[in-house]
Amino acid sequence: MDNLLKKLGWNAFFGKHFRDYVGLYEPARVSTVYKNGYNVYTKDGEIRARISGNLRQKEHLPAVGDWVAISKDEIGSATIHVILPRKSKFSRKEAGKVTEEQVIVANIDTIFIVTSLNRDFNLRRIERYLAIANEKGAEPVVILSKSDLCKDVNNKINEVVEIAPGINVVAISATENDGIEQLSPYLKDGKTVALLGSSGVGKSTLINSLEGYKRQNIGKIREKDSRGRHVTTERELIMLENGGLIIDNPGMRELQLWDAGEGMLDLFSDIIELEMQCKFSDCSHETEPGCAVKNAISDGSLSEKRLESYRKLQREIQAVERKKNPKLAEKKKWKDIKKMAKEIKKIKKR
Ligand code: GDP
Ligand code: ZN
Repeated sequence: MDNLLKKLGWNAFFGKHFRDYVGLYEPARVSTVYKNGYNVYTKDGEIRARISGNLRQKEHLPAVGDWVAISKDEIGSATIHVILPRKSKFSRKEAGKVTEEQVIVANIDTIFIVTSLNRDFNLRRIERYLAIANEKGAEPVVILSKSDLCKDVNNKINEVVEIAPGINVVAISATENDGIEQLSPYLKDGKTVALLGSSGVGKSTLINSLEGYKRQNIGKIREKDSRGRHVTTERELIMLENGGLIIDNPGMRELQLWDAGEGMLDLFSDIIELEMQCKFSDCSHETEPGCAVKNAISDGSLSEKRLESYRKLQREIQAVERKKNPKLAEKKKWKDIKKMAKEIKKIKKR
């Protein structure tokens, strides 16, 4: 196996799916998606690429992080013929459209959920990100950034650990170079990390400090825009000097709740277990007798706030589900997450 390909994340899984194309095409990984083309890493370096006419006919387009099968032309650019199966993916509802799945990034091992320890710090938002990240086949890690601006870092860490059981929570300061070493287990050769977090929380600063050199000088690609002017675009899949790959994609910042249903099941498993003990299977936990959720709130084992964030997330997911499948939503008004999760599974199987 070629060493650079390995560094890029090539492994037996993709090798197996590439078997039919050996001798015909060569493997490459998509590093940037433009309006009218792609950049891909090959075993010989990064080159421009476009998709074949055949691939254009198909519904799915390459996303950042995808492994693809390419051919090269005489002038050194590439044509993408095949998208290899994805090990994991993040997708969203296409802006404006009713519900078309758009894959934003693919083949991620770890997802860094970044929130800063100053004004941006918000447990509800972290919960939402966790629900988005949970079921994607990538391990979520919560990164609390700008620790230099916070006086009670340990309290904040504990608050997050409470809402994110079993998930690694680390505090860092990218500007003070503090705590960054805690990220090294995730930044190994061939391992891909994607960043999720609002604008301004310090994602680019973190990448700069990980890269060991300034991204401004090296991470930008010059390309011509539609009028032929040179513009610079940030490369989205970045190979780090000390191993590992990191994806900072603007689309991740706008991620909507898509397919978060199952992630939510994990995140709020304590409430869902309580719900299963309610006397009535369609209990709304308002006024019904024999309500295990109400009981847990009165004995203090469940907080009102946690129940409220569960409900809020549930409403948001239902809104997305309704858009995805209006007919189903019309026929049925989902009362609880368990029923909804079953429906989601059925839809997925179809
Ligand atoms: P992004 O939008 O998430 O990529 O955020 P940036 O990396 O552009 O950072 C936004 C602002 O936060 C910039 O002014 C950074 O200098 C600042 N910043 C980033 N990391 C830190 C940090 O660890 N500590 C402090 N005090 N400021 C930071
Ligand atoms: Zn109940």
